[in-house]
Amino acid sequence: MSSPGSQIMAPPSTVPASAGHTHPSLGVALREGHYRVIALEPIAAGTELLQLHGVFVDAPSRYSVQVAAQLHVVPPDDLRPEHVPDRYLWRYLNHACRPNAAFAGRWLIALQDIAAWDEINFDYNSTEYEIAEAFQCRCGGCGGRTVRGFKHLSPSEQARLAPYLAPHLAALLPATT
Ligand SMILES: [Zn+2]
Repeated sequence: MSSPGSQIMAPPSTVPASAGHTHPSLGVALREGHYRVIALEPIAAGTELLQLHGVFVDAPSRYSVQVAAQLHVVPPDDLRPEHVPDRYLWRYLNHACRPNAAFAGRWLIALQDIAAWDEINFDYNSTEYEIAEAFQCRCGGCGGRTVRGFKHLSPSEQARLAPYLAPHLAALLPATT
């Protein structure tokens, strides 16, 4: 059963190599005015969901995901949300403060079992040192905190992210003995 108002767009059965790897159980839904990546069927914890791909640049922008200290991925310039929604699914990933997925390098991994039709999200603070355009969280579990990037978290908030922090940010945590 799909949620009311959802429009499901399943990925094609074959994805061009240039489009990166995307798990066939992922789709994009438009819910409450926002595109979201969703599971089309149950997905097990630990599953590789998709691989970041696109154009690599040295500065963050509104739609980039950070993969290293000075390296960010953006969709190609000429790609708009209304175009080919089955490609570059990662650009529809929303932030959540209690995410069900996280990036390990360029791969997005399921942190837990994910039910069919659940939205897949990650904590932007686990990849982004400083977000280009801070925004108010809509995850529903945090009361709408402002998401600004890892740099702006308290030491305890940074430490809480340790289990799924991107390596370029994990390197900034104080060493534990
Ligand atoms: Zn939140």
